[in-house]
Amino acid sequence: NQWCSVVRWEKETRPFLRSREFLWQEGHTAHSSAEEAKVETQKMLDIYKTFFEEYLAIHVMTGRKTEKEKFAGAEYTLTVEALMQNGICLQSATSHYFGQKFAKAYDVKFINKENEYEHVYQTSWGASTRMIGALIMAHSDDRGLVLPPKIAPKQVCIIPIANEPAIYAMSEKINELLKSKSITSYIDTSNKSAGFKFAEAEVNGIPIRIEIGSKDLMNDSVTVVRRDTHEKEVINLNNIIDHISTLLVSIQENLYNKSFNNTKERTFDVTSLEEVTKIINETPGFLISYWCGKESCETKMKEIKGIKSRCIIESDDCNNHKCIVCQEKAKHKISWGIQY
Ligand SMILES: [Zn+2]
Repeated sequence: NQWCSVVRWEKETRPFLRSREFLWQEGHTAHSSAEEAKVETQKMLDIYKTFFEEYLAIHVMTGRKTEKEKFAGAEYTLTVEALMQNGICLQSATSHYFGQKFAKAYDVKFINKENEYEHVYQTSWGASTRMIGALIMAHSDDRGLVLPPKIAPKQVCIIPIANEPAIYAMSEKINELLKSKSITSYIDTSNKSAGFKFAEAEVNGIPIRIEIGSKDLMNDSVTVVRRDTHEKEVINLNNIIDHISTLLVSIQENLYNKSFNNTKERTFDVTSLEEVTKIINETPGFLISYWCGKESCETKMKEIKGIKSRCIIESDDCNNHKCIVCQEKAKHKISWGIQY
């Protein structure tokens, strides 16, 4: 398991999403049985899903890639698919089951319980700095970056509004208290105007801003502003640490819920190509349909604004449905979308 830089000869690049050189995390495992390797493939997919949902606060859809979209060297590819605020899909992490393909090609063997040589069963899984692109696009607003508290390098920015020793002393005190509760914070002591400091904290996506002015000091209180909703509250100093701790949890939850709701609102069950064309032009997102499993139908879908299959979704009622393209008996339930 390692982070390293890789190179792809991309014709068209896009910062954080598609670049010619980027950092990625890749892991490889070798197993003595197919079952064990398949369990590992699923386990890593679940780890990526958990990371996206619980840390990056991005709701994801998971499933298996089609033969056309899987990694060519894999027996099958599992994928984590995220939807951005504008309804464009992003393949965010993948986990592959290789079977014995590479083991046979490179003659990688082990001695099994029968004391015989056997080719290993492999998995491979990865995510990249594309996650940063997903993070930016999933949560940002017109004021700039919005970072989920769990991954924000600084969770709180303290801004002394007036240049007074008492205000600075109060800022220091709150900063120390936050630190003692393992909340990461800093005081903006620069000479910039208060308005500039507020805007800068917003652009940088700091989850919480604490403003301390002369009036606040007189009332033993501070003004607390959350980045995600811009809500402002005056909080008594006695409650400040508890309030900030609770607020960080609430912001993390709110960002995930927003992502979840955006995905829900942009996920459509579709049964005809007319419907697909209409939705993809008006409110793109995940389009769910049934599919016969043939590549020709996947290619046909691509003619509509470059739609690609995202992932095959587990379903046992395919027998009662028809392929959205050719109207033949369906084999899979599948999601489609436009991708970055
Ligand atoms: Zn078909």
